[in-house]
Amino acid sequence: MVTESTDRIVLEPPAPSAAVQARSLYVETYGCQMNKADSELIVGLLTREGYRVTDRVDRADVILVNTCAIRENAEQRVLGRMSELNRFKTANPDLILGLCGCMSQHLGDRIIEQAPYIDLVAGPDNYRRLPTMLRALDAESEPALSLTWDRAEHYLDIDPVREAGVNGWVTIMRGCDKMCAFCIVPFVRGRERSTPHGEVIRQIERLAAEGYREVTMLGQTVNKYRDGEVDFADLLSRAAEIDGIARIRFTSPHPAHFPERLIEVMAASPKVCPHTHLPLQSGASTTLSRMRRDYTPETFLEVVRMLREHIPRIALTTDVIVGFCGETEEEYEATCEMMRTVQFDSAFMFKYSPRPGTASHKRLPDDVPEAVKAERLTAIIDMQKSISDLRNRAYRGQIVHVLVEGQSKRDADKLFGKTDAFKTAVFPRRPGIESNMIVPVRVNGSTPFTLFGDIETPA
Ligand code: SF4
Repeated sequence: MVTESTDRIVLEPPAPSAAVQARSLYVETYGCQMNKADSELIVGLLTREGYRVTDRVDRADVILVNTCAIRENAEQRVLGRMSELNRFKTANPDLILGLCGCMSQHLGDRIIEQAPYIDLVAGPDNYRRLPTMLRALDAESEPALSLTWDRAEHYLDIDPVREAGVNGWVTIMRGCDKMCAFCIVPFVRGRERSTPHGEVIRQIERLAAEGYREVTMLGQTVNKYRDGEVDFADLLSRAAEIDGIARIRFTSPHPAHFPERLIEVMAASPKVCPHTHLPLQSGASTTLSRMRRDYTPETFLEVVRMLREHIPRIALTTDVIVGFCGETEEEYEATCEMMRTVQFDSAFMFKYSPRPGTASHKRLPDDVPEAVKAERLTAIIDMQKSISDLRNRAYRGQIVHVLVEGQSKRDADKLFGKTDAFKTAVFPRRPGIESNMIVPVRVNGSTPFTLFGDIETPA
């Protein structure tokens, strides 16, 4: 069960001052798209309070690190980074160093024991309190912590300040009620709740007015969205009616919540991109059961069948964990077999590592030897690489439509962007072609990770 926690310190803020309002803010983000969207929310909230955003960490008066707790090495990396950032206090003793996001909620006040130089710790439902906490730090030398869970918090009246880019994130759900055995998310992001549909539509309309052509709806189990009578299929239909938006994506859906009506809505709207990230985690029913994933390999395959029947050119991507507690050779082979059967376009693959606080950490022995986990991971990555290579080769000779994001990282004479099926495509620059344009590209080469081609000009 997720239990409510309360603030460790009650903050009585002094009134804002001109000095506070002139402060510069640097935000660094780790983890998933949800965290990126939350960072945009934090920036929206604090710029409203008068903070100026800087991209120079050495010039910041306030540094906030928005963190991920999903894997232990992510937490270790962030702790290392906080120690590095602490060095800036030598030049600026008034610098405020804060930790936000999932890791804050996960570690709570233990973080201050580990890193006593951290001034502020705020969990994902506490960003609204950041201005108050920052003001309180002017008067208090004690660290400010706020780690409450708030089921009613949707951050409705805060407009995010978005990073430059062609895709706008819209958080349509927060939290998760699923309680998968390996997952820390419900313990750090709290109970599931859906943003009112009117607010989702308002945010997408605002994105369209700002010139964004692509939106991605975000939620831990995004297809479970429900606001009264409005379910996720209804929300997709309404979003697809908004002028100016050319592409709609969503992540991550849960395989147990994919009714055919949703797939029909996806198929009926040309704006809904033909790509679905469908987390498999394991291809063995016994492992799925231990993981507390409420679907079976058969029902997962049925979703895949329906998606491909209604949207034949859909790209499917997934997440897989190898070496989960008690995973036998047969169970691992069932996962490999499932991946061969589905032929995912790409996959994020991980070795299981227990997270304190989760059901698997409490109740299941982490008994697959590290060497076996590593061997299974290497083998499954190699297999998926071959599958991704074949999937991408099938695009050769075809025209794909690419939303241009900018200059290729490896070649200044080339541009890159994403196809509607979420493939990265790289192609030579052409005069007049800029970011945020959707251009036809004929594919003439590929790797497992990238398509290459040339802009197709009318004959
Ligand atoms: S559905 Fe499972 S894996 Fe996904 S966030 Fe919720 S608990 Fe974690």
